[in-house]
Amino acid sequence: MSTEASSRAFDEAQTYIPGGVNSPVRAFKSVGGTPLFIKEGQGGKMTDIDGNSYVDYVQSWGPLIFGHRDESIEAAVIEAVKHGLSFGAPTEAETELAHEVVSLFDSVDKIRFVSSGTEAVMSAIRLARGFTGKDDIVKFEGCYHGHSDSLLVQAGSGLATFGNPSSPGVPADFTKHTLLAKYNDIESVEKCFKDSDDIACIIIEPIAGNMGLVPADKEFLHGLRKLCDDHGVLLIFDEVMSGFRATLHGAESITGVTPDMITLGKVIGGGMPVGAFGGRKDVMAMLSPEGPVYQAGTLSGNPIAMAAGLAAIKKLKKNSKLYPVLQERATRLVEGMKAAAAKNGIAMVTDVRGSMFGFFFSKDAVKNFDDAAQADHALFAKFHAAMLAEGFYFACSGYETGFVSTATTDEMVDQTITAAQKIFTEIC
Ligand SMILES: *Cc1c(COP(=O)(O)O)cnc(C)c1O
Repeated sequence: MSTEASSRAFDEAQTYIPGGVNSPVRAFKSVGGTPLFIKEGQGGKMTDIDGNSYVDYVQSWGPLIFGHRDESIEAAVIEAVKHGLSFGAPTEAETELAHEVVSLFDSVDKIRFVSSGTEAVMSAIRLARGFTGKDDIVKFEGCYHGHSDSLLVQAGSGLATFGNPSSPGVPADFTKHTLLAKYNDIESVEKCFKDSDDIACIIIEPIAGNMGLVPADKEFLHGLRKLCDDHGVLLIFDEVMSGFRATLHGAESITGVTPDMITLGKVIGGGMPVGAFGGRKDVMAMLSPEGPVYQAGTLSGNPIAMAAGLAAIKKLKKNSKLYPVLQERATRLVEGMKAAAAKNGIAMVTDVRGSMFGFFFSKDAVKNFDDAAQADHALFAKFHAAMLAEGFYFACSGYETGFVSTATTDEMVDQTITAAQKIFTEIC
């Protein structure tokens, strides 16, 4: 398999674009390869510019739950384009998509659209601060909430609760309002409440997908809800990744814990740039122009993006049996890979939520970021490169979640397991 054209394209891209990519994870740095340049996708597969075809388990990092070039989404976009790309004035499609989300999520009375998950989370946090009149926020190690300043935080030294910036360019003055807690560890959250009486919100991925797939324990989420209620603090579920991926009605429908606000992205745009944040009526009423908390966007609720999102959500709603089917397929995939690994003495732990799947090369269960970091990421890098060479496109980091789509066929899953079997024999 030649990837010469991709290598050449990457060299050229690096001349004009920092690192050759417009989002760092695409650079394959953590697995040590060079990124493939993609020419086109169709269904469950995509093809690079050298003409190699891959079964795609990344799906644009989540959005493409119907695979590439879904007919109804494509048709909706083409139809919308004919009426104009953007107006900067309200369109009915915005209300229609808002109505769909409000009817699907018990926790959401009102919703606002933005153009990315980062923007959704950033705005939700501003709103939580405006609503409560408090400044501090609690986030969890290993959860990713986009690249806004106060969320680019890593653990402080020693026992410090308050985070340090995880990137140059982020003033420590900004991150001193971000408290870091340990995922699935309620005591670490209680400590935050001891250290600060100025907490506006807790933000969490209820089904974490950015340290590999690590769902939160139900009791833990119930514990967060109680702490929030006891202290007058808002609970925000960041479902930019898990929303419409794990289930149609949000993590609240499988955990029984109702957040005050949620953030959405990825699937809600059907492949176009869309993010959203929504929640309780009294909280959302604080948002401009209804209330004083400012938030805006020239291309927010863009008609083409709304058309794509609406087509995707309507299709999901029409096919309610789709999630168990996707879950069964994803389970068969990871169980098959796990069995193949075990045959070669390699330990793997796996998890599945709807169309999301995760696996770690680890003997022990993974409950938080420290556990995820202890998995064998060197082995993952080898596995990734070998699978890619066989035509299977997995996310290029052991800290990512994989996805199956409705276009991922049983045959593709079988082929993947067979390839994994061959690779585990070779790399052991
Ligand atoms: C992807 C992601 C984001 C950021 O969304 P962008 O559209 O990349 O800005 C935020 N939160 C979670 C949970 C995500 O998975």
